Parts: sequence; C-alpha cells; structure tokens
Amino acid sequence: MTASRTLALTERLIGRSSVTPEDKGCQDQLIALLEPLGFRCETIVSGDVTNLWARRGTTQPVLVFAGHTDVVPTGPVEQWTSEPFLPTIRDGKLYGRGAADMKTSIAAMVVACEEFIAAHPDHQGSIAFLITSDEEGPATDGTVVVCNKLKERGEAIDYCIVGEPTSSATLGDMIKNGRRGSLSGCLTIKGVQGHIAYPQLAKNPIHLAAPALAELVAEVWDEGNEYYLPTSWQMSNVKAGTGANNVIPGDMVIDFNFRFSTASTAEGLKERVHAILDRHGLEYHLKWALSGYPFLTPRGTLSAALCEAIKAETDVDTELSTTGGTSDGRFIAQICPQVIEFGPPNASIHKIDEHVEVRFIDPLKNIYRRTLENLLK
Ligand SMILES: [Zn+2]
Repeated sequence: MTASRTLALTERLIGRSSVTPEDKGCQDQLIALLEPLGFRCETIVSGDVTNLWARRGTTQPVLVFAGHTDVVPTGPVEQWTSEPFLPTIRDGKLYGRGAADMKTSIAAMVVACEEFIAAHPDHQGSIAFLITSDEEGPATDGTVVVCNKLKERGEAIDYCIVGEPTSSATLGDMIKNGRRGSLSGCLTIKGVQGHIAYPQLAKNPIHLAAPALAELVAEVWDEGNEYYLPTSWQMSNVKAGTGANNVIPGDMVIDFNFRFSTASTAEGLKERVHAILDRHGLEYHLKWALSGYPFLTPRGTLSAALCEAIKAETDVDTELSTTGGTSDGRFIAQICPQVIEFGPPNASIHKIDEHVEVRFIDPLKNIYRRTLENLLK
C-alpha cells in the first residue's frame, strides 16, 4: 500500500494548534503546495485573521474549494485519550482536534487538485481556494471579507464546495445545499411592580405576556418548501421575578430565536412578531439580532456533479439537506449561485477525541477530484 498524501497532509495540519482565530502557519503549508501547481496566492489579513485566496486560471467557470484552518478549543486536555494536536491513529481512526472539522477536507481538496492538474494541466475554467481562520469564532474577518473583496473587483465565481463535515453515518450519505437563517430577539414586557396581595395596584407582566407567548408558540410561520422544514420559533429563556414570592415583578424578559427557511424573510418575521405583540396591547421593548441569512442552492450542475462523484466512488446515494447550524456558506452564497457543503461524517466534531475514519480519507479526496473532472475536464 502506498502512503496516502492526503493522510500525511491532514496530520501535518492537525499538528498545528490553530485554535480560532489562529492559523498557526496552516495556510503557508497550503501555499507551498498550491504555488507550484500554478495557483496565484493572495493572503488577505483582516484584524487578527489570516485568509487565503488562491486561483489557478483566468477563465470561467470558477470552481472554489472553501474551508477553514481554525479549530474550536480542545476542552479539558486530560480527557483526551491522546493529545489533541498530536495526530494519532488508533483502531482505524485518526484522532486530533480538526480531524473532522475540517483539516481532512482541506488536505483532500489540495491533493485532489494535485492529481487533477497532473492529469489535465489544460483544464477548462479556473480552480480556486478560499481559506479562512475565522469560521469557528465571530466570523467577521474571514470569508465575508474575502467575498466582499471579490465582489468589489468583479471577480465572479460559479461553483463553491465548502468542506464542512456533512456526512452522517457514512461518507457521502449527506450534502448540504443550504442552511437555515438565524434571527434572535430579546423581548422585555413592561409591567408595574407591586405587592402580590394588592394586584389592583400593580401590572403583572407575566400574566400580560402569557396569551401573546401562547400565540407565538402556536403560530405557523410558513410551511417550509421543497428543501426546507417549516420555520421554527423557540424560546430559549424566560425570566421575571424579584426573588421574593410576595412581589409582582416590574418586567419580564424573553429570549427567542427563529431558524428560518427561505419561505420566510427576516423582515417579514419581525413584522409578524410585532403585530402579535401589538394586538395584545403589550408595552414592550424588542431588540433583534440577525446572525445569518438562509441560503439555498436548488438541484443543478454542482449538486449533480458532486452526487455523481460520490456514487462513482462509494456507491452511496446522497441526500440533499438544509439542516444544521449556520456556516460560511451563507457569505459565499451572496456572490456564488451554487454553493454545496460536503465533507466527512460529523458525529465527533467539537467533541473530546474528535476523529475521522482513515478509510474515508482517500475516498474523500477522490470524490473532490471526480467532481473537478465532472465540471472542468
Ligand atoms: Zn467547520
């Protein structure tokens, strides 16, 4: 058996303790591999964050591989079976922080390009890499900055594969063709504090809010669509009370969040929440925070190329899904018509003893290479 270049590169990347927003030289390693392949590499620094834009070719279509070199903190190191930044193989699994999220994907993308370019040096279009070290943190100096720069200079991209770990039980069983949006609200219902024995002299914000909250819980925000489950509204916290059981509190604070589909808009949801609160005659203050727009890539050229590559490599039929948290796909989708996320199984991500199964590493690289062949050969 020949040694796997993808495994070796994955191990080198895991060896860098690039806890967000640190890159710890990961991108320099990628540049050292990409430049000899003919990629023009551009380092884009914003705040504490290092980003890499690397492109080979000047024509369309442009296929972008996107990902992040930063990882989440290890948590208590003594709970790890082996050191989190010392890549270790046990029982067919490669352990280390970032093994699944997402250093294996990055290594697989680079080696897939090496193989594809060696076989097809005069391929069609362009191949690019968009790599950041600010995905697991606030995500304000990372992918969004590079996307804005590309937009500014009119550099169009056509397809983007984000290497997030999207597989579930086995490699290739799930890809993400969108993500829901996330909209949070902090609602303060105003009452009048008073003695609980003299309710006529007070105004109980809990009693005032209850019917409106019941209505918000029962509301059907949308029916979802072909790709999305219906939008969901969830309260994450409710607090009121002064600590004494003989006091009607002066106000009540409710934290809530929408995970919304492309069947709704953030503005539309806000309006409807205000309409319900107003109809109940409440006196309130409501502070909104939109942390991510939803995005959707309907079935098309990119999803077909990827699903075909997965089928050819693994014989697995792929499910398109829009579940899960937000990702950098939301920024790229603003400048790219087709964005799909695909990477290894995600059961261990962000956990103690994060790992990837070694038997998936080369097939993942082969799937990325086959996708290149399907789109740019
Ligand atoms: Zn990730």
